[in-house]
Amino acid sequence: MPPSLQPVLDRIAAEVQALPGRGRPADYIPALASADPLRFGMAVAELDGTVYGVGDWQHPFSTQSITKVFTLALDLSLEGELLWEHVGREPSGNPFNSLVQLEYEHGIPRNPFINAGALVVTDRLHALTGDAAGTLRDFLRAESGNQDLTFDENVAASETAHGDRNAALAHFMASYGNIANPVPALLEQYFRQCSVEASCADLALAAGFLARHGIRADGSTLLSRSQAKQVNAVMLTCGTYDAAGDFAYRVGLPGKSGVGGGIIAVVPGRCTLCVWSPGLDQRGNSVAGVAALDRFTTLTGMSVF
Ligand code: GLU
Repeated sequence: MPPSLQPVLDRIAAEVQALPGRGRPADYIPALASADPLRFGMAVAELDGTVYGVGDWQHPFSTQSITKVFTLALDLSLEGELLWEHVGREPSGNPFNSLVQLEYEHGIPRNPFINAGALVVTDRLHALTGDAAGTLRDFLRAESGNQDLTFDENVAASETAHGDRNAALAHFMASYGNIANPVPALLEQYFRQCSVEASCADLALAAGFLARHGIRADGSTLLSRSQAKQVNAVMLTCGTYDAAGDFAYRVGLPGKSGVGGGIIAVVPGRCTLCVWSPGLDQRGNSVAGVAALDRFTTLTGMSVF
């Protein structure tokens, strides 16, 4: 990374402070609603694990749907192409928790990043490992080097208490034979997965394998080069809810957002980024987060295009 990037992060943080609107935190999970929309952090990790950051870049937040990238990668590393018989890889154009496509697509969700698809991935990872959420946590700890990284039981309980929509998705897919575990066991895994707390620094480091073409922090191989490309491609086309087209247009990088206000992004062969600010736009993406990534690629010229 050229030494000029820390000033770039500092400049972006200053610009973000001046944004006229910062959105509102997610409120459909009560445990997320109290987050301060004015918080902002951003981290960039180089391929060798050097991390640069600004603002609240070391503050843990609720990772939520960002974890869907890691469960996808872990599942692909174990079962490969077979996964794609159970979940598609097309953008959905519908909200993240939508049920509508499932009936006419016979219980096969459109992609692994909407809730239905993520439930299928977690279900399969759980069937293969016996502990999907624990496998995810251990992977994130190993890649970030943060052994304290863990679940927020309060958030998991809050999601469980307000989990009717996800339960409906899981039961509906089970009716088509596309869920292997008992639905209550799957939901417990999924809600624990979404409750992982991690910082921008942790997530930028943990996503490093996507910039290193599948190679983990310790030099071992998680994914083939081709599989890493596939995950990046699905992030680009499906990673930011039903605003993936706008995100690609503005940012030009594979990215994945979560309703906790975090977004990870990948510059293949160069670096990984994570930005966090809890105020969301109408589609569930962090307002300041998208703006910051937009400025990053504009100021540095680092995009996949
Ligand atoms: N736990 C959330 C849910 O399934 C994840 C939402 C998200 O970050 O997109 O409702």
